[in-house]
Amino acid sequence: MSETLISARGVRKNFGQTEALRGIDLDIRRGEVLAVMGPSGSGKSTLLHCLGGVIVPDAGSVALGETVVSDLDEQRRARLRLTEFGFVFQFGQLLPDLTALDNVSIPLLLAGMKRRDALGEARDWLGRLGLTGLGRKLPSELSGGEAQRVALARALAPRPKILFADEPTGSLDSFAAENVMTMLLGLVRESGTTVVLITHDPRTAAYADREIVVRDGQLSGAARVGAL
Ligand code: ADP
Repeated sequence: MSETLISARGVRKNFGQTEALRGIDLDIRRGEVLAVMGPSGSGKSTLLHCLGGVIVPDAGSVALGETVVSDLDEQRRARLRLTEFGFVFQFGQLLPDLTALDNVSIPLLLAGMKRRDALGEARDWLGRLGLTGLGRKLPSELSGGEAQRVALARALAPRPKILFADEPTGSLDSFAAENVMTMLLGLVRESGTTVVLITHDPRTAAYADREIVVRDGQLSGAARVGAL
C-alpha cells in the first residue's frame, strides 16, 4: 500500500497579493483516503485544484506517477481530469436540466462510451448509491443527500484513480452526511480508489487513513497518521 500515486513538490500559488500556497510537499499513496483540514482561507481548495490539474502552480510540481501534471497544457489536463480524476464539491453541481441518470452518464459519454452502455453503467451506479428508481428525477426534485449521492455516482462512474472531494457533506445534515460518507468510503475501499477529502468536520475526517492540516498555505505539523 506504500506506492506513491500523486506527489507534490514545492507547490506555490498566488492570487494577486495573496499567497494561497507557500511551498507544499505532499505524497499521497495509492488507495489512501487523505483528509485535508485547516481553517477557511488556508489554501485547502487551492491545493486540491493544483493536485487535480484544475489549475497549475506558479512554482513547484505535481506528478501523477510519471506524468508531471503541472507541465501539461489545459487540453491535456482536461483529458486527465476526465479519465483519471473524479470531483465532488460541497454543492453537487449537477446539471439542473438533466435527470439524475443523464447527469451520471455524461462523463461516460464524454469518455467515448456508447449511449446505451453509459446509461446502463449510470443506472448501476445509482443503484450502488441507494438511488434506484430516482434516475428520472431532476436535481431540483432530489433531497440534498440524494443530490450529493448522484454527484458521487457521477464522479465514481468513470472509475477514477483519485477522487477529489471538497466538503462533499458540507451542506448536509449530520444524518445525510454520515450516509454519504459511509457510501463513499464503502465504494472507494472496494475499488481501491485514492481519495483527497477536504473537510472541516472532525467526524468526517475520522473516516480517513490520514489527516493533514493546511495553515497559511503550508502543511502544519499537526497531522494524524492512521493505520494503512
Ligand atoms: P480554503 O479552501 O482553505 O478555504 P482557498 O484555497 O479557497 O482556501 O483560498 C486560499 C486563499 O486564496 C484565500 O485567501 C482566498 O481568498 C484566495 N483565493 C482562492 N482562490 C482565489 C481566486 N480564484 N482568486 C483570488 N483569490 C483566491
